Amino acid sequence: MIFDAHIHVGKGDPFHYSDSGDSPVSVGDLLTEMDKNNVDNAIVMPNFHLPHRLWNSNVELAKSIKNNTNRLFGFAWLDPRIENCCNQIDSLVKKFGFRGLKLHPVLGGYYLTNKTVLRLIEKAISLKIPIMIHTGWGLLGSATYVGKLAENFPEGQFIIAHMIDPECMNVTKRNKNIFLETSYAQHPRRITQAVNTIGSDKLLYGSDYPLGGGIEFEISKINLAKITDEDKRKILSENITRLIE
Ligand SMILES: [Zn+2]
Repeated sequence: MIFDAHIHVGKGDPFHYSDSGDSPVSVGDLLTEMDKNNVDNAIVMPNFHLPHRLWNSNVELAKSIKNNTNRLFGFAWLDPRIENCCNQIDSLVKKFGFRGLKLHPVLGGYYLTNKTVLRLIEKAISLKIPIMIHTGWGLLGSATYVGKLAENFPEGQFIIAHMIDPECMNVTKRNKNIFLETSYAQHPRRITQAVNTIGSDKLLYGSDYPLGGGIEFEISKINLAKITDEDKRKILSENITRLIE
Protein backbone atom coordinates (compact mmCIF):
# COMPACT_ATOMS: atom_id res chain seq x y z
CA MET A 1 0.00 0.00 0.00
CA ILE A 2 1.24 3.49 -0.87
CA PHE A 3 -0.23 6.67 0.64
CA ASP A 4 1.16 9.95 -0.71
CA ALA A 5 1.14 12.59 2.05
CA HIS A 6 1.49 15.68 -0.17
CA ILE A 7 -0.28 16.36 -3.47
CA HIS A 8 -1.81 19.51 -4.99
CA VAL A 9 -5.01 19.53 -7.04
CA GLY A 10 -6.63 22.17 -9.24
CA LYS A 11 -5.54 25.37 -10.89
CA GLY A 12 -3.63 27.81 -8.69
CA ASP A 13 -2.64 31.45 -8.98
CA PRO A 14 0.78 31.99 -10.62
CA PHE A 15 3.58 32.79 -8.16
CA HIS A 16 7.23 33.64 -8.42
CA TYR A 17 8.63 30.20 -7.51
CA SER A 18 6.57 28.19 -9.95
CA ASP A 19 4.19 28.21 -12.89
CA SER A 20 1.79 25.87 -11.06
CA GLY A 21 -1.01 28.26 -11.94
CA ASP A 22 -0.59 27.14 -15.52
CA SER A 23 -0.40 23.42 -14.85
CA PRO A 24 -3.58 22.41 -13.06
CA VAL A 25 -4.15 18.78 -12.13
CA SER A 26 -7.73 17.55 -12.20
CA VAL A 27 -8.87 14.77 -9.87
CA GLY A 28 -9.22 12.50 -12.92
CA ASP A 29 -5.63 13.19 -14.03
CA LEU A 30 -4.40 12.66 -10.49
CA LEU A 31 -6.14 9.30 -10.09
CA THR A 32 -4.64 8.16 -13.42
CA GLU A 33 -1.17 9.18 -12.24
CA MET A 34 -1.70 7.49 -8.87
CA ASP A 35 -2.87 4.25 -10.51
CA LYS A 36 0.12 4.27 -12.87
CA ASN A 37 2.41 4.33 -9.82
CA ASN A 38 0.36 1.98 -7.60
CA VAL A 39 -0.46 4.79 -5.20
CA ASP A 40 -3.62 3.88 -3.28
CA ASN A 41 -4.36 7.04 -1.29
CA ALA A 42 -3.27 10.65 -1.09
CA ILE A 43 -3.46 13.77 1.02
CA VAL A 44 -4.62 16.49 -1.37
CA MET A 45 -4.58 20.26 -1.00
CA PRO A 46 -5.25 23.18 -3.33
CA ASN A 47 -2.53 24.83 -5.36
CA PHE A 48 -1.23 28.27 -4.35
CA HIS A 49 -3.87 31.00 -4.11
CA LEU A 50 -3.82 34.54 -2.83
CA PRO A 51 -5.12 34.64 0.77
CA HIS A 52 -8.62 35.94 -0.01
CA ARG A 53 -9.10 33.19 -2.63
CA LEU A 54 -8.12 30.26 -0.41
CA TRP A 55 -11.58 29.64 1.04
CA ASN A 56 -13.07 29.10 -2.43
CA SER A 57 -10.16 26.94 -3.53
CA ASN A 58 -10.65 24.65 -0.51
CA VAL A 59 -14.41 24.37 -1.11
CA GLU A 60 -13.79 23.61 -4.80
CA LEU A 61 -11.30 20.94 -3.80
CA ALA A 62 -13.80 19.35 -1.42
CA LYS A 63 -16.39 19.22 -4.19
CA SER A 64 -13.94 17.79 -6.71
CA ILE A 65 -12.94 14.86 -4.47
CA LYS A 66 -16.37 14.07 -3.04
CA ASN A 67 -16.74 10.86 -5.11
CA ASN A 68 -13.27 9.64 -4.12
CA THR A 69 -13.14 10.22 -0.37
CA ASN A 70 -12.07 6.59 0.09
CA ARG A 71 -8.74 7.49 -1.59
CA LEU A 72 -8.31 11.27 -1.35
CA PHE A 73 -8.15 13.15 1.97
CA GLY A 74 -8.20 16.96 1.99
CA PHE A 75 -5.86 19.26 3.87
CA ALA A 76 -7.16 22.86 3.88
CA TRP A 77 -4.66 25.52 2.85
CA LEU A 78 -5.43 28.67 4.83
CA ASP A 79 -3.77 32.00 5.57
CA PRO A 80 -3.69 33.06 9.25
CA ARG A 81 -3.97 36.74 8.34
CA ILE A 82 -7.49 36.26 7.03
CA GLU A 83 -9.60 37.52 9.92
CA ASN A 84 -12.08 34.62 10.07
CA CYS A 85 -9.55 31.85 9.32
CA CYS A 86 -10.51 30.03 12.57
CA ASN A 87 -14.16 29.88 11.45
CA GLN A 88 -12.95 28.78 8.02
CA ILE A 89 -11.01 25.79 9.33
CA ASP A 90 -13.89 24.87 11.64
CA SER A 91 -16.34 24.72 8.70
CA LEU A 92 -13.88 23.03 6.37
CA VAL A 93 -13.34 20.23 8.87
CA LYS A 94 -16.91 19.84 10.13
CA LYS A 95 -18.91 20.51 6.94
CA PHE A 96 -16.48 19.67 4.16
CA GLY A 97 -14.58 16.76 5.71
CA PHE A 98 -11.04 18.16 5.68
CA ARG A 99 -8.54 16.06 7.65
CA GLY A 100 -5.69 18.53 8.18
CA LEU A 101 -4.43 22.11 7.86
CA LYS A 102 -1.69 23.27 5.48
CA LEU A 103 0.29 26.45 6.11
CA HIS A 104 2.84 28.06 3.79
CA PRO A 105 4.68 30.81 5.67
CA VAL A 106 7.01 31.53 2.71
CA LEU A 107 4.38 32.13 0.02
CA GLY A 108 2.18 33.79 2.66
CA GLY A 109 5.04 35.99 3.86
CA TYR A 110 4.57 35.57 7.63
CA TYR A 111 6.48 34.23 10.63
CA LEU A 112 5.04 31.14 12.30
CA THR A 113 5.64 32.80 15.65
CA ASN A 114 3.20 35.62 14.85
CA LYS A 115 0.15 35.88 17.15
CA THR A 116 -2.25 35.63 14.20
CA VAL A 117 -0.74 32.23 13.38
CA LEU A 118 -0.99 30.94 16.93
CA ARG A 119 -4.78 31.37 17.13
CA LEU A 120 -5.16 29.25 13.96
CA ILE A 121 -2.79 26.61 15.34
CA GLU A 122 -4.81 26.47 18.58
CA LYS A 123 -8.02 26.11 16.59
CA ALA A 124 -6.62 23.28 14.44
CA ILE A 125 -5.43 21.47 17.56
CA SER A 126 -8.87 21.80 19.13
CA LEU A 127 -10.26 20.15 15.98
CA LYS A 128 -7.70 17.34 16.45
CA ILE A 129 -6.23 17.66 12.96
CA PRO A 130 -2.53 17.51 11.99
CA ILE A 131 -0.86 20.69 10.72
CA MET A 132 1.43 20.48 7.68
CA ILE A 133 3.88 23.36 7.30
CA HIS A 134 5.99 24.13 4.23
CA THR A 135 9.72 24.43 5.01
CA GLY A 136 12.65 25.53 2.86
CA TRP A 137 13.15 28.57 0.59
CA GLY A 138 14.67 30.95 3.14
CA LEU A 139 14.20 32.25 6.66
CA LEU A 140 10.40 32.19 6.82
CA GLY A 141 10.59 28.52 5.83
CA SER A 142 13.03 27.54 8.56
CA ALA A 143 12.12 24.23 10.22
CA THR A 144 13.31 25.79 13.48
CA TYR A 145 10.01 27.68 13.71
CA VAL A 146 8.05 24.44 13.36
CA GLY A 147 10.14 23.15 16.27
CA LYS A 148 9.13 26.17 18.36
CA LEU A 149 5.44 25.52 17.61
CA ALA A 150 5.81 21.85 18.51
CA GLU A 151 7.42 22.80 21.84
CA ASN A 152 4.72 25.35 22.63
CA PHE A 153 1.88 23.05 21.57
CA PRO A 154 2.88 19.55 22.73
CA GLU A 155 -0.70 18.35 22.11
CA GLY A 156 -0.46 19.29 18.40
CA GLN A 157 0.72 17.04 15.56
CA PHE A 158 2.99 18.80 13.08
CA ILE A 159 4.28 17.73 9.67
CA ILE A 160 7.38 19.37 8.20
CA ALA A 161 6.77 19.42 4.44
CA HIS A 162 9.92 18.72 2.36
CA MET A 163 13.43 17.63 3.27
CA ILE A 164 15.04 20.89 2.08
CA ASP A 165 15.97 22.81 5.23
CA PRO A 166 19.20 21.34 6.71
CA GLU A 167 17.60 21.65 10.16
CA CYS A 168 14.59 19.47 9.31
CA MET A 169 16.03 16.27 10.76
CA ASN A 170 17.34 17.83 13.99
CA VAL A 171 14.02 19.52 14.62
CA THR A 172 12.06 16.31 13.97
CA LYS A 173 14.41 14.32 16.19
CA ARG A 174 14.02 16.76 19.09
CA ASN A 175 10.20 16.83 19.03
CA LYS A 176 8.11 13.71 19.25
CA ASN A 177 5.05 15.52 17.82
CA ILE A 178 6.77 16.35 14.50
CA PHE A 179 6.74 14.17 11.39
CA LEU A 180 8.95 14.74 8.36
CA GLU A 181 7.61 14.46 4.80
CA THR A 182 10.22 13.26 2.31
CA SER A 183 9.75 15.28 -0.91
CA TYR A 184 12.89 16.94 -2.33
CA ALA A 185 15.24 14.65 -0.38
CA GLN A 186 18.18 14.76 -2.80
CA HIS A 187 19.09 11.08 -2.75
CA PRO A 188 18.06 7.67 -1.30
CA ARG A 189 21.05 8.06 1.05
CA ARG A 190 19.27 10.97 2.71
CA ILE A 191 16.26 8.70 3.43
CA THR A 192 18.60 6.07 4.89
CA GLN A 193 20.23 8.76 7.02
CA ALA A 194 16.82 10.02 8.19
CA VAL A 195 15.74 6.52 9.27
CA ASN A 196 19.01 6.07 11.15
CA THR A 197 18.73 9.50 12.78
CA ILE A 198 15.06 9.95 13.63
CA GLY A 199 13.52 6.53 12.98
CA SER A 200 11.05 5.33 10.37
CA ASP A 201 8.07 6.08 12.64
CA LYS A 202 8.57 9.82 12.03
CA LEU A 203 8.83 9.84 8.22
CA LEU A 204 6.01 10.27 5.69
CA TYR A 205 6.44 9.68 1.98
CA GLY A 206 5.18 12.70 -0.02
CA SER A 207 5.71 13.84 -3.61
CA ASP A 208 4.39 17.44 -3.80
CA TYR A 209 2.98 16.39 -7.21
CA PRO A 210 2.58 18.07 -9.73
CA LEU A 211 5.50 20.12 -8.43
CA GLY A 212 8.83 18.47 -7.73
CA GLY A 213 10.31 15.44 -9.42
CA GLY A 214 7.11 13.42 -9.78
CA ILE A 215 5.49 10.54 -7.95
CA GLU A 216 7.59 7.73 -9.47
CA PHE A 217 10.85 9.52 -8.64
CA GLU A 218 9.83 10.35 -5.05
CA ILE A 219 8.73 6.75 -4.35
CA SER A 220 11.95 5.37 -5.86
CA LYS A 221 14.03 7.21 -3.26
CA ILE A 222 12.21 5.35 -0.48
CA ASN A 223 12.52 2.01 -2.27
CA LEU A 224 16.24 2.48 -3.02
CA ALA A 225 17.14 3.52 0.54
CA LYS A 226 19.07 0.96 2.58
CA ILE A 227 16.31 0.39 5.12
CA THR A 228 14.13 -2.59 6.08
CA ASP A 229 10.86 -3.53 4.39
CA GLU A 230 9.10 -2.65 7.64
CA ASP A 231 10.66 0.84 7.53
CA LYS A 232 9.44 1.25 3.94
CA ARG A 233 5.90 0.19 4.87
CA LYS A 234 5.80 2.72 7.69
CA ILE A 235 7.12 5.56 5.51
CA LEU A 236 5.04 4.72 2.42
CA SER A 237 1.69 4.33 4.15
CA GLU A 238 1.36 3.24 7.77
CA ASN A 239 2.47 6.44 9.52
CA ILE A 240 0.26 8.85 7.56
CA THR A 241 -2.72 6.48 7.81
CA ARG A 242 -2.45 6.55 11.61
CA LEU A 243 -1.93 10.31 11.68
CA ILE A 244 -5.19 11.20 9.93
CA GLU A 245 -7.36 8.58 11.68
ZN1 LIG B 1 3.30 21.47 -1.71
